[in-house]
Order: sequence, then C-alpha cells, then structure tokens
Amino acid sequence: MKPTSTYQRHIVELSNKLPSITEKQKQWAFDHCFETGGYQYGDNVWCLYCGETYRTDNTTEFINAVVGGEAICPHCGRKLKLENSRKKMYSESWYYTIITTFKGFQVCRHFIVEKSMRRDRAELRKPYYTINEAVQNWIDENGKETIIARPCKAMFRIYDAWDFSKPMEIRRRHQTYSYRPDKYDIEAKYIYPRRSVLPKIKRNGYLGRFHGISASELFKILLTDREAEILAKNGQFDLLRHKHKRGYKELPFAHAIRIANRNKYVIKDASMWLDYMELLEYFNLDTHNAHYVCPRNLKAVHDSLLAKKDRIEAKLELERKMAEARKWEAQYQETKGKFFGICFGNEDIVITVIQSVAEMAEEGQAMHHCVFKMEYYKKPNSLILSAKDRNGKRIETIEIDLKTFKVVQSRGVCNKNTAKHEEILKLVRDNIKLIKQAA
Ligand SMILES: [Zn+2]
Repeated sequence: MKPTSTYQRHIVELSNKLPSITEKQKQWAFDHCFETGGYQYGDNVWCLYCGETYRTDNTTEFINAVVGGEAICPHCGRKLKLENSRKKMYSESWYYTIITTFKGFQVCRHFIVEKSMRRDRAELRKPYYTINEAVQNWIDENGKETIIARPCKAMFRIYDAWDFSKPMEIRRRHQTYSYRPDKYDIEAKYIYPRRSVLPKIKRNGYLGRFHGISASELFKILLTDREAEILAKNGQFDLLRHKHKRGYKELPFAHAIRIANRNKYVIKDASMWLDYMELLEYFNLDTHNAHYVCPRNLKAVHDSLLAKKDRIEAKLELERKMAEARKWEAQYQETKGKFFGICFGNEDIVITVIQSVAEMAEEGQAMHHCVFKMEYYKKPNSLILSAKDRNGKRIETIEIDLKTFKVVQSRGVCNKNTAKHEEILKLVRDNIKLIKQAA
C-alpha cells in the first residue's frame, strides 16, 4: 500500500533509514532460537549443530544421557538435546524480535529466522541459516501504531506466509476476519536481549517483561490506556493481561483493585480473583474491605465460597422444581390414582406405587437420581414404584411402561444397581398382572 498521508510518508522514510540487522544480532538468533540439538535414529545421532552423524556405543552412560534428553557430540563437543526422528531433512523457523527506538518512535522489528540442513546430501549437511524481516510495528509517543510489512502469500491454513521477494510497505489491519489471528500482532518466543524502549513507556510501568502480551500491544496500551498504566505501575500484570485478552475497556471491581493496590496486594490469578469478587457480591460480603479483597489464600476462599454457592443454588433449584411440581399433583392423582394401593413383595422387599409428586421428589432426593428432576410424574405412560426393605429403607426405584407393562429401569442410589436388583425385577414380573388389572 502506498502511504496516504504525510505521517505515513514520514514513517516510510524512517523505515528506509533503519540500520540493517547486525552480525551480532544475527548470531544471537542462530545461537539461541533453535533448541533441538540432534535427531536420534536407531543407534545413530545426527548433530544439528555441526551436521555430522555418529554411532552411539549403547553404553549405560550414553543411555542415561539420552534418558535425560542430552548427549555430547564427539565431533563438535556440543551438548545435544535429542529428539527421536528418522528424518533426513531438518528445518525449523521462528519469529525473532528486535525491540528498538528510532527518531522518537518505538519500533518492534520481527524477523523470521530459519535453519535447515539435510543428512543425505554431503553439500547440504552443514546448517544453513536465513534471517528475513517480515513486520515492523512503529509506535509513536501517543501510542499510535503504523504497520510496515511484507505481503503474505495465499496459502491454505497459513496466515503468515510472508513473501520476502516483495518489498516492505505500509499495511492496514483488516478487522473483517476476526477469527483469524492478527498477523501484525507478533508475540515472538525469541527477543534480542539488548532492547531500547521509549522513556515514556518505561515511565508508564514497563519493567522489561511482557507477561503474555506481545511487545507491540503492551507498548501501545501502556501509552494509551490510563488503567493499564496504573495496573503496570502496581505490578498487577495478570490483571493487565486479563484486561487485554478479554478486551475490557475497563475492568470490573475497579474500587476493589484500588484497595488491592493500596495494600500492595498483587493479584496473581486475575480470573480467579474476579470470580471471587463476584462470589463476595453474591454473599453480600464487602468488596470495599481489604480483609475480603486481599485474601492470603485466594484459591481456598474462592473454592469454599463457590461450593457454598453451589449448595444454595441446588437447593433453590429443587424448591423451584417442587413449586412447579405441585401444579401437577392433581393430574398425577387423576392419571395414576387407579394404581395406588398396589403393593406386593416378599419377606425382605416391599414394592409400592408412588402416590404423589411430593413422594416422588422425596424418592429422587433420597436416592440421588433424576426420577423427580426429569419430571417422570408428567409422563403419561410411566408408572413409578418404590422398592423398600422391611424397615422402610429405599432399595431401588422402578419404572414400568404402561403400554408394554415392562420394566424400563430399576435403579438404586445414584443410579446404581443393587444386590437385590434381580430379585426386585422378578417380583415385578410375577406381579405385573396387578398393574394390568388396574390399568
Ligand atoms: Zn556436532
């Protein structure tokens, strides 16, 4: 894209004047960006530093070294982190970022550094490195960002196939395909350790770490967002990360965050802490009180309040169901009333038809199964019976289908079968005529 304003033309001019990457910066990338040291195949190792292969002697010493993931190359003496692979070609590439300043701008320069070599071709056996610049984020003191980058080749499923044969130009972010990663927001795994950062960014809380935010994004928000600046200055980097990832214009519970800051309480797990704030509100506990806002063991208080809330909600849910079920009581009496009074069994087991919706609720709660919650009382072809022992203790709950007069299910506590299961099924089969007669 051609620059369309004086401002953009100015940045293009500055970009053209940026010094090339130095030999030292390149060497750092070659030395640090590639962690795989060697491929192990069978008894052999291919060293990805010097390209030589060597046979291992299978000594205990070597095997111990491999178990630990490391071995020493006899050719170059390097310690190798080994990977199990029979590949004859090796190629690995990474983003590598240089953070610098230029004429009052903060610049993040992103390179692709690539290492490749082949085991089967003598002339390609030594590692071959390339390093190419793909993107520059230019950020001015007001946090305004301008992108200069290569175009991308159209490739299936690869959103950042930079075309290094084309020049770097001004680029615009396309917000339309929001499901795609933003290719200009680069969080490189490898950043050159010598960095130059605008004094204003340092003043606003940058301490040299990025806390899971890309460098360019962190610099922008520290320059434009007052809340982000305060969070950074108070060391609340997880809240800052949370704010950024969730796209909050302003974090909730600002008053509680101020209290945490005042008490030098650093929130290490922002999403858990914010959930905890919601729990405090749920229980009408004071989110203006440091005692609640800054707990010594966040996880413990969070978990205990959450469990308490779950219990309350479960009870409320049951009450709602009961109230709703009461409306069905009359209908239940009408449709299933003719079966009430049916009772059969043997010396150990008594089986009766459940005589009300309320009784079904009780059965469901005592047995921890879903006979009540799933509203079996509404089902016209379903008859529910309860099998108890001689002392009145519930054993299993039985469902009979009134069209086929067959047992659909018979379940004990928590939907499990009991030792009496077969006996109960036989009793029902033997007495099914009672139900048929009543129907
Ligand atoms: Zn070697």
